[in-house]
Amino acid sequence: MAEAAGGHAMGHVVAVIGAGPAGLFAARALAAQGCRVLLLNRDVKPGGLAEYGIFLNKYKMKTGLRRQFQKILSDPRVTYLGNVMVANGGALTVGELRALGFDALVFAIGAQGTKYLGIEGERLPGVYHAKDLVYHYNRLPPFSEQSYPMGRRVAIVGVGNVMVDIANYCVHFCDCDAVIAVARRGPFEKAYDDREFEDIEDAFDRDLYRQEIARIRPRLEAAGQDPDELLRALGQRPESETQTRARLSFRFLASPKRVVAEGGRVTGLEVEETRLERKGDRVNAVGTGQLSVIPCDTVVFAVGDRVDPAAGLPYKDGLYLTVPGEDPAGAYQVWDPVAERPMEDVYVVGWARRASDGVVGRARLDAETGIKHVLSRLASKAPRPGPEAERVMAAVVDTLKARGVPAVPYTDVARIEAVERERAKELGVEEFKFARNREMLEVLRG
Ligand SMILES: Cc1cc2nc3c(=O)[nH]c(=O)nc-3n(C[C@H](O)[C@H](O)[C@H](O)COP(=O)(O)OP(=O)(O)OC[C@H]3O[C@@H](n4cnc5c(N)ncnc54)[C@H](O)[C@@H]3O)c2cc1C
Repeated sequence: MAEAAGGHAMGHVVAVIGAGPAGLFAARALAAQGCRVLLLNRDVKPGGLAEYGIFLNKYKMKTGLRRQFQKILSDPRVTYLGNVMVANGGALTVGELRALGFDALVFAIGAQGTKYLGIEGERLPGVYHAKDLVYHYNRLPPFSEQSYPMGRRVAIVGVGNVMVDIANYCVHFCDCDAVIAVARRGPFEKAYDDREFEDIEDAFDRDLYRQEIARIRPRLEAAGQDPDELLRALGQRPESETQTRARLSFRFLASPKRVVAEGGRVTGLEVEETRLERKGDRVNAVGTGQLSVIPCDTVVFAVGDRVDPAAGLPYKDGLYLTVPGEDPAGAYQVWDPVAERPMEDVYVVGWARRASDGVVGRARLDAETGIKHVLSRLASKAPRPGPEAERVMAAVVDTLKARGVPAVPYTDVARIEAVERERAKELGVEEFKFARNREMLEVLRG
């Protein structure tokens, strides 16, 4: 990074789009090298899934992350504007941002698209995609304003950490009797962490688990797996002293085929039994043709997400296109498939680069790695004197103003959060969040 004669860093001006963990840590890494950073975020408040994904009562983790984010957002080299969607039909488009004179655009917009399995009944009422439900219970507008009624018997498709969170919500915050986690493959291929599972140990029905292992025993053994290993591990795991009314069970080796409904109401999830087949290191599920129905009145798909095609970046099969080949820097740079060359100065980091990939620490590492590549490209560009950088920033603010977009700077986020803290105190609850953007904007007017 070039240094001015007086020793002041003379950086470049960079827009980071998305203020989840990836965008925030990207902003920090850029600012630390003297860049002037504009952080544009769809949501009024920063944090992304750290604010609106991490489970409801993980207050300590959320508070710790908020504190780190607050520090980044208080850096004078970082300007935050919430309530600004960058997308086709959004407050700004990718093309407009590119024309405004930034030295680089870093997209850290997460994975906002939905991964549909393409099965019948997937869009019926009572069938949800995990991200929407997670946004709902974590009170992210507009999901917080919509209703997501949960029935008595909930089938959750997927066996990762998000399944654990959804099950946690069902058994501790809803009026459910039964939660069934449905997996195409077997117990050895489960994707959740045992530490996370501890949060729902009190709902876990050990007898049903043993029965399920007995049911699939021949198929596990046929794949060279030892079911007794599972039973031994179960015996070694401490049992919960308390029990929830809702019981959690697993249905392994079951591939969803159709959501069954009567009169528009969900009555079950039809699945095809599978067997396991080894292919190198991978264990695949292969359909056996045998169908059965898991009775349930609610289905939640917790199968990961895709990036949002409407954001306006080149997109294919759930991902934004990056430079093909093995160049590590290319893996962060967006690829223009029409011109068949890299998109000049446009990058992706975090879940926008690899949808649904890991925890906050991983998104942070991905952002920091990406920014190293961005900085090394910027080094060959002429640095921008301060006033010029400010002119670029002001052009964005003026454009948003002219369009009547009520962009929310960080000082205003802090005001909203102060009112929310007051409200929580009045109500005697740990946390209070406004459910509507309108309410947050009213606080600012008031
Ligand atoms: C249900 C769930 C629970 C989780 N629990 C944990 C946990 O307990 N611990 C843990 O470490 N990790 C957890 N994670 C993972 C963690 O949340 C992610 O690793 C991390 O948030 C990904 O960061 P990101 O910045 O890439 O994306 P996101 O966090 O999704 O942030 C994306 C940001 O971009 C903004 N945005 C989106 N589209 C646009 C647009 N078009 N224009 C402008 N802005 C846009 C959004 O407003 C958001 O602020 C959980 C994830 C989920 C889904």
